[in-house]
Amino acid sequence: MFEILKQLFSISSNDEKPQTCCLCCGDCCEAFGGHLHASENDKERWRREGREDLLARINRLDWIWVDPETKQPLERCPFITSIPENRKICAIQDTKPDICRDYPTLAHEKRCLHGFFM
Ligand code: SF4
Ligand code: SF4
Repeated sequence: MFEILKQLFSISSNDEKPQTCCLCCGDCCEAFGGHLHASENDKERWRREGREDLLARINRLDWIWVDPETKQPLERCPFITSIPENRKICAIQDTKPDICRDYPTLAHEKRCLHGFFM
């Protein structure tokens, strides 16, 4: 929760400075949230935390997120949550997958979908 509040209140109003914060538009989650992979670290953490609900959303090849019953991949991450002012946040922020924590990676030059440096 602290991370979310920090993000919400860290939006720069100075256009001359490079944008270095997240706008919580959710576009990266919408674009990539249906193509994620759970790491060994994720699975171990979710077991430790008793997150059977998250473990049930992994298929046998560790792709996430899948329907817990059918194990069919979902097209959209089920944890994208809309909040006021057209913003979106992660409903599992405190224990979201490593792949989401690491985004944007060095391969993306640490810039998100909208070019913001993180
Ligand atoms: S696309 Fe960029 S600004 Fe939008 S939520 Fe993702 S990281 Fe934040
Ligand atoms: S798990 Fe959270 S951070 Fe990852 S795609 Fe879904 S909403 Fe976004």
